[in-house]
Amino acid sequence: MIPYKHEAFTDFSKEENKKAIKEGYKIVDAYLGQDFPLIVGGERITTESKIVSYNPAKKEEVIGKVSKASQEIAEKALKIADETFNTWKKVKPEVRADVLFKAAAIIRRRKFEFSALLSREAGKTWVEADVEVAEGIDFLEYYGRQMLRLKEGQPVESRPGEYNRYDYIPLGVSVVISPWNFPFAIMAGTTVAAMVAGNTVLLKPASTTPVVAYKFVEVLEEAGMPAGVVNFIPGSGAEIGDFLVEHPRTRLISFTGSRDVGLGIVEKSAKLAEKQIWIKRTILEMGGKDTIVVDKDADLELAAQSIVRSAFGFSGQKCSAGSRAVILEDVYDQVVDRVKELTNELTVGIPDEDEHFVGPVIDASAFKKIMSYIPVGKEEGRLITGGEGDDSKGYFIQPTVFADLSPTSRIMQEEIFGPILGISKAKDFDEAIEIANNTEYGLTGAVITNNRMNLEKAREDFHVGNLYFNRGCTGAIVGYQPFGGFNMSGTDSKAGGPDYIQLHMQAKTTSEML
Ligand code: GLU
Repeated sequence: MIPYKHEAFTDFSKEENKKAIKEGYKIVDAYLGQDFPLIVGGERITTESKIVSYNPAKKEEVIGKVSKASQEIAEKALKIADETFNTWKKVKPEVRADVLFKAAAIIRRRKFEFSALLSREAGKTWVEADVEVAEGIDFLEYYGRQMLRLKEGQPVESRPGEYNRYDYIPLGVSVVISPWNFPFAIMAGTTVAAMVAGNTVLLKPASTTPVVAYKFVEVLEEAGMPAGVVNFIPGSGAEIGDFLVEHPRTRLISFTGSRDVGLGIVEKSAKLAEKQIWIKRTILEMGGKDTIVVDKDADLELAAQSIVRSAFGFSGQKCSAGSRAVILEDVYDQVVDRVKELTNELTVGIPDEDEHFVGPVIDASAFKKIMSYIPVGKEEGRLITGGEGDDSKGYFIQPTVFADLSPTSRIMQEEIFGPILGISKAKDFDEAIEIANNTEYGLTGAVITNNRMNLEKAREDFHVGNLYFNRGCTGAIVGYQPFGGFNMSGTDSKAGGPDYIQLHMQAKTTSEML
């Protein structure tokens, strides 16, 4: 087995790669607008009622019409997943992992097609799409290897005349509810982690981005996944999401999305349904309001670059996005000026037409919500740049910066999930860390400083799941920077980390007298 190494990113300054992504768009355009069925027990089911997926950059362009699961179909899928669990859990871990490795190889061959599809369906720029496809491949390669490591269980002691073992066994039917902001990587990662551990899966992808999920389930089938192991059932949260979360045969819920929906899942899954015989496990990755702290003794160019990239990559629609900057007063004006210059250099536009740094936001309701914060920011602070939006053709919002904000202002506290950066001033490093910690979230953060003592202080006191020094706060890499946060950011389940697969399993002790 080749040791795990993360997938290399594509250099789009090379002509051959520009050509390759354009070929990718051609492949995707050939299947654009088609109908896509549900997949339950390997069977294709087409329903009357459809989820229509649109291109957020060209809002009239239909990516696909995807059949929508009713409660009846969800019940059927659950039954099939429950039955399939009895056979899948007995399939050797090596064989389960082989499905992942083969799927990784297929995706690698179709990398530019998947990038182009992400660009069309989620409005990702070439670079953001490519990084996401690489992350999806990494999850497949990494989780496959993690399972191989776990198959022997963990060592425990045995007394003379005794043989003790400690093994991990799967849990059962897993409901995977995946987000639209990483509609390939997080969808694939959460699905295959459950599956490689021996569970069966009901995959309910985000309704804004279901086509890429369908294409991925096809890849799993091609890689040799038996029917019924992963079932593809897009549908509405209110109709089938809640139904599955509350179902007595659901054993695990793996959710990535908003804080409010996540908390709803905690509550609903904690209620005992009739005939339910277990306590449901939940893995929840929720929001963030992530801060970059700039010390007075710091590389100010690096600080401004890190702030701008972390705030505006994928239009700020990452839970890791650096939507807040806290800058020490000694260097405040300098950094704010440079942030303004760099932000003004960013181009906003349709991702497939050229290399823009900022594409659209995901849909009309996101556009409306994000735009509603512009007057709030003007009221609470000073508009440095941006502030305009245009939804005539797609959902485009200019990268927007507000400075001089109170740390408790709405712009500094609420997760906006769009290209809006808030900046506050701190009098010293201690106060900066205090401000950084003053949200209910705790996902990512960064500190830009040359002061070793301050780095060590941040290491101890800056309370986030992913803390970065002298770089931005997005772009965690599978197997290198396991990802997950504290407090209202979720269960700190650390996707892409060494403990992740165990969260989908339970440990069994056997003790034999010899
Ligand atoms: N893992 C991604 C990152 O480090 C963010 C995931 C998310 O936004 O949900 O940037």
